[in-house]
Amino acid sequence: MTMELDCIFCKIVNKKIPASILFENDTVLAFRDIEQKAPEHILVIPKAHVPSIMDQSLARDTGIWDAVLDAIQTIAKDLNLDTNGFRVVNNMGLHGGQTVDHLHFHVLGGRQMNWPPG
Ligand code: AMP
Repeated sequence: MTMELDCIFCKIVNKKIPASILFENDTVLAFRDIEQKAPEHILVIPKAHVPSIMDQSLARDTGIWDAVLDAIQTIAKDLNLDTNGFRVVNNMGLHGGQTVDHLHFHVLGGRQMNWPPG
């Protein structure tokens, strides 16, 4: 599995720094965002170091997409977010507001979300 030594999310995957982990399997990890933007704010990441949603390594046959979807559905059910709804966000690149260059999906819920996000 590809890892980057100076990547904060790779360090979380390798348990070098702590995180509040909600879900884990061979392919993905989900943990609470350190800066909660909603009552529930979880990040779902591939364990492999994939820099962004545009990365060529993100082929459909890697199993990453299926694993991310499974994790999102499991978390939404476990936290009862599926009843009232929730939001999934991926920020890509400079204009997208991506600050950590390891692919991650924000799962936000527990309050009414606004649109557009700004
Ligand atoms: P983005 O701005 O979309 O790249 O999202 C990166 C997210 O990672 C932000 O919401 C940060 O609060 C979050 N984050 C950064 N460092 C950590 C960490 N050590 N543990 C949990 N979340 C983090």
